[in-house]
Amino acid sequence: MPADFDLAIVGSGFAGSLLAMIARRMGLSVLLVERGHHPRFAIGESSTPLSNLWLEILADRYDLPRLRPLAQWGTWQATYPRLGCGLKRGFSYFHHRAGEPWRGQVDRADQLLVAASPNDAVADTHWFRPDFDAFLVEEAIRLGTDYRDRTDLTSCEPGPCGVRLEGRSGGREFRAVAGFLVDASGPRGFLHRALGIPEASFDDFPRTRALFSHFTDVGRWADDQPVLSGAPFPADDAALHHTFEGGWMWVLRFNNGITSAGFAETVPDGPGREAVPDPDPAACWCGFLERFPSIGRQFAAAKPIRPWMRTDPLAFRTSRCVGPRWAQLPMAAGFVDPLFSTGFVLSLLGIERLARVLETGCGEAALAAYETETLADLDATARLIGGAYRVLGDPEAFEALTMLYFASASFSETALRLGNPGLAPGFLLRSHPRIAPAVRTLLSEAGRRPAIEWSARVAEAIEPINVAGLCDPAKGHWYGVEANDLRAGAAKLESTPEAIGAMLRSCGL
Ligand SMILES: Cc1cc2nc3c(=O)[nH]c(=O)nc-3n(C[C@H](O)[C@H](O)[C@H](O)COP(=O)(O)OP(=O)(O)OC[C@H]3O[C@@H](n4cnc5c(N)ncnc54)[C@H](O)[C@@H]3O)c2cc1C
Repeated sequence: MPADFDLAIVGSGFAGSLLAMIARRMGLSVLLVERGHHPRFAIGESSTPLSNLWLEILADRYDLPRLRPLAQWGTWQATYPRLGCGLKRGFSYFHHRAGEPWRGQVDRADQLLVAASPNDAVADTHWFRPDFDAFLVEEAIRLGTDYRDRTDLTSCEPGPCGVRLEGRSGGREFRAVAGFLVDASGPRGFLHRALGIPEASFDDFPRTRALFSHFTDVGRWADDQPVLSGAPFPADDAALHHTFEGGWMWVLRFNNGITSAGFAETVPDGPGREAVPDPDPAACWCGFLERFPSIGRQFAAAKPIRPWMRTDPLAFRTSRCVGPRWAQLPMAAGFVDPLFSTGFVLSLLGIERLARVLETGCGEAALAAYETETLADLDATARLIGGAYRVLGDPEAFEALTMLYFASASFSETALRLGNPGLAPGFLLRSHPRIAPAVRTLLSEAGRRPAIEWSARVAEAIEPINVAGLCDPAKGHWYGVEANDLRAGAAKLESTPEAIGAMLRSCGL
């Protein structure tokens, strides 16, 4: 069974196409199979400093200079103005109570703004995936990937010399043999079904579901809220979150008049649940807007421009994500929740690891290590977000929990930028010898201890990695990006204020 390709990738989302480009740069012959065709809708749109940094690292390491401008708003706009994109200066959170308008308290206790960048030029983005993914697949083709869209794979047989794929493409039978297969087809995707891989679950994680679409004519939240004047960044040029007991909503604006919005919430689990018919999604959406009158005002003129999408259950975890001659990318192995926008960075970390596995010949030990890391990253994410769901109804505890995320993300980003990745082992520092055990305990206690005492312990726990001035009551729930905070934290990064200054200058700051 001689292989037609060194590598076959199933699914041409951004992750499949990016891995295809990298593999081509490594000199491999690559088949990229897509069930649908581009441009197409895809959910998962908001990038973060860490995901953009990994995009840059991969673009540099594998000589993909055309991807590098996509890692920042300014260079993206200058280079690819026709690719839809949103400006993301940070994360904004507004806490709501059902049946009441948002108050905008004078002490700002019902809001939290955390900047991720000090100006628009170096800001993060929301990727308008129909444009972004189509661009990436074209780049993969340009680099010599054999791309087959509108292809329905019906079987997959891993054997000693390769993986045999069969299906139908363009009305004809399709067959190919690849030396190695990567599944980039998303949760409960191709290999999950073709190989009957058993599903597992995340420990201590609630059942959640999501309802979402793309809209036009969504109001700008801050236009209606004078209390936000003087904020460190425009609250709408961000990943804007509305939070409430048991759930949260995202609002992501693109520069083409389209806004992505949806909400995720816990659902009662247990016997009898399946017997309750799901209400009509449009009615469900209207009911949601009625429950939260201020959000209802923001969406008063909004029109959905595509069919409603519903994911129930939202979270998924596989029991295995590698086998002889195959591996799944992180999104095919599991997904937790869009809160904190962890999807892209997990995908990029997976691509980075898998590229190294491919470089070293896909040995059993390398694959096993890939599986361990991939599932451990997903489990760490689920611990964070599981804790978040328990405190979404309590703004004080929720803010403290976000600090666990922002502290580990900003510390990891800076350590990587300083060329010292060993300081930040594992996604969310899950392997950090001092921080990880403390964070694990705190997350297991989130929502199960009085908020005031728990929040104080969060501030104490993150102190050794707090390089962003987090948990500072003097900031009044508004966190800008302050170079001085980073300089003051230099020793925590085994660095000096001068080296931090040089790093900031190299980032154009
Ligand atoms: C509601 C929601 C919101 C999210 N928001 C964010 C966010 O804001 N930020 C973030 O970082 N992450 C977010 N994510 C996660 C994000 O969606 C993923 O990280 C990202 O889409 C992964 O890209 P991908 O290329 O692996 O998969 P996808 O984008 O899902 O692409 C998979 C591709 O595989 C194709 N395919 C599927 N089955 C087959 C098959 N059998 N044969 C051939 N092709 C197939 C599909 O057509 C598709 O083109 C979100 C996820 C969800 C569910």
